Parts: sequence; C-alpha cells; structure tokens
Amino acid sequence: MNLTKLVTGDRLMTECLFCRIVDGEIPASKVFENDKVLGFKDINPVAPVHLLFIPKLHVENFFEASQHEGLIEEVFQGIATFLKDNGLSKDHFRLVSNMGERAGQSVFHLHFHLIGDRPLSWPPG
Ligand code: 5GP
Ligand code: ZN
Repeated sequence: MNLTKLVTGDRLMTECLFCRIVDGEIPASKVFENDKVLGFKDINPVAPVHLLFIPKLHVENFFEASQHEGLIEEVFQGIATFLKDNGLSKDHFRLVSNMGERAGQSVFHLHFHLIGDRPLSWPPG
C-alpha cells in the first residue's frame, strides 16, 4: 500500500498526491464530489475534456479496491451521476485506468480518466 504517513511537526501528512487532493492540501478543480468519490480536472489534459475520478479511500489499484465491497461501484455510480447531471450520458468519451507502471500509471491511487471532446484512436499507445 502506498499510504506512507509522514509526521511533520504535530501533523500527519500523506505522501499520496490524490489523498492530499482529497484532504484539500493540494487544490484541484473539482467537478463531482460525494462522501466516497471525487472527480476533478486533470492538471495536464490530453483532450478538451480530461477528468479524473477517484475513490476517497486510498487504494492503489483495481485489485486493492475490489477488497472493499461496493467501492468500485461507488466510483462508477459517481461517474454516471456526473455524466447524467451534466447532460453528457450520450456523449462519446473514453474511460480508462492505467494499472501499473508499464501501463502508464504514475499516481498510485486508483483513478479513472474520463477523456472526451475529440476523436479518440484505438488501439491506444
Ligand atoms: P496516470 O498516469 O497515473 O494514469 O494518471 C495520473 C494523472 O494525474 C495524469 O494524467 C496527471 O496529469 C495527473 N496529475 C498529476 N499530478 C496532478 C495534480 O497535482 N493535480 C491534478 N489535478 N492532476 C494531476
Ligand atoms: Zn491516496
């Protein structure tokens, strides 16, 4: 698990970037939030729409998430609610998660990229 807690003064600080976004220590442009799920804009977008959806609970990947009953479903429900509330459910988009370094994962807190508003080729690189 990638949740090393560092003690800084009298304060506990996590070294996970996305946990720090959840905790409000690092700002992010939020697009969706409920008690379990956060959606925010990717800082380095690869398309006009590039959002990240994460469980607030720190889990490194899909397999770790699957050990928490209902967690993955909560994330997908959050994404579906976001799409519906914004009238985007009939839009074309890609939902993708890079699992592991060789697949392009750079932040080891489970996240799903929602990418859209441009033609998307397949297979991806
Ligand atoms: P991965 O490479 O793990 O699949 O995706 C991580 C994503 O997080 C990247 O697309 C990257 O641009 C994004 N990212 C990295 N640091 C930050 C940050 O501080 N804020 C936001 N909003 N996104 C970030
Ligand atoms: Zn985390």
